[in-house]
Amino acid sequence: MKFTPAKPPLTGETLASLTEKLRALGEPAFRAKQILDWLYKKRARSWDEMTNLSKPLRTWLDATFDLMPATLVFNKQSHDVTDKLLLELRDGSLIETVIIRVPQEGVGLDESRKTICISTQVGCAMACAFCASGLAGLKRDLSAGEIVAQLLQVCYREDERSPRARPELASFDNIVVMGMGEPLANYDATLGALAIVNAEWGLGFGARRITLSTSGLVPKILRLAEEPLGFRLAISLHGATDEVREKIMPVNKAFPLAKLIPAIRTFSEKHGRMVTLEFILIEDINDSLDQARALRDIALDLHAHVNLIPYNTVEGLPWKRPSLTRQEKFADILRAARVSVTLRREKGHDIDAACGQLRLKTERDRADAA
Ligand code: SAH
Repeated sequence: MKFTPAKPPLTGETLASLTEKLRALGEPAFRAKQILDWLYKKRARSWDEMTNLSKPLRTWLDATFDLMPATLVFNKQSHDVTDKLLLELRDGSLIETVIIRVPQEGVGLDESRKTICISTQVGCAMACAFCASGLAGLKRDLSAGEIVAQLLQVCYREDERSPRARPELASFDNIVVMGMGEPLANYDATLGALAIVNAEWGLGFGARRITLSTSGLVPKILRLAEEPLGFRLAISLHGATDEVREKIMPVNKAFPLAKLIPAIRTFSEKHGRMVTLEFILIEDINDSLDQARALRDIALDLHAHVNLIPYNTVEGLPWKRPSLTRQEKFADILRAARVSVTLRREKGHDIDAACGQLRLKTERDRADAA
């Protein structure tokens, strides 16, 4: 399930790996940093822009690396605050990267705070019953370079829309690893990509502004707890009892709540920060007030934040979001116990922002056209 491109992406190189390759050519040690500066700080889109490199070196780079392994297919802008980039990889695979703008008083949307949602796999093997990403199973893992490329594509786009005071910095404020795929099932590439994003020679982006979301792979959560970089963690809970969770998330069979909850506790104790429990509200599936009470107890026990997300309908799936009244009643049970809770106002519903939907639609259209 691995794809080996003709040329490895430059976005997958670390300062150390690039230095090593250039040393073999007889290039001085500072050359790798110069090249990565062109890529991440000056956002060069072609080798020829890298004017302080010799022509023969640029020719070698072009023959050796793919500068950008993801091509923008299209950008779909919603009427609210969400932008979605559909990217095509070298093997024709499609992935989605979402820009979520947080409206702020006194500034235009382009200048407002931005959270970027990135994908880590093409498709997904977790088979959550409600999710569009997993409908066709897992196609393949993304490489670290393909994961980093999504963020650079966002920088390209945002740089054009709103010049920044410090152009060498990333063009967004937060990263959530909540796009297509299960990041902890593609652990090495995901963590490798985030190390590049975090590095001073890369995007220089703070680990504390990066949230990893998982469906609950317990051994990997425990491994993540040992990582030196302090990423934030979000857990896709979606059921507050095994009975309910198991119905919609097959992962619960291998890692039921009795295993998952202690792993979350270990993570939050190691990092001393609140974990987020995500809970999609789906009508008649997990929106009972009994579920609300069970969720409240878990959140209090873990001292976790709860993010309630009204379900985004997926074409071909029967699930619906509960009424606004039901959503509020559910949230009130948590609020009454002083649980830190947000009831998310939908963003991007009109552009199929729920994970995997845009890709699914485009692949269906392509299949129809073939
Ligand atoms: N595999 C990881 C990250 C990708 S899914 C995980 O499970 O956390 C990102 C989030 O979107 C998850 O919480 C997922 O359950 C949620 N999601 C999937 N389909 C959705 C839908 N139709 N409406 C709302 N949220 C959805």
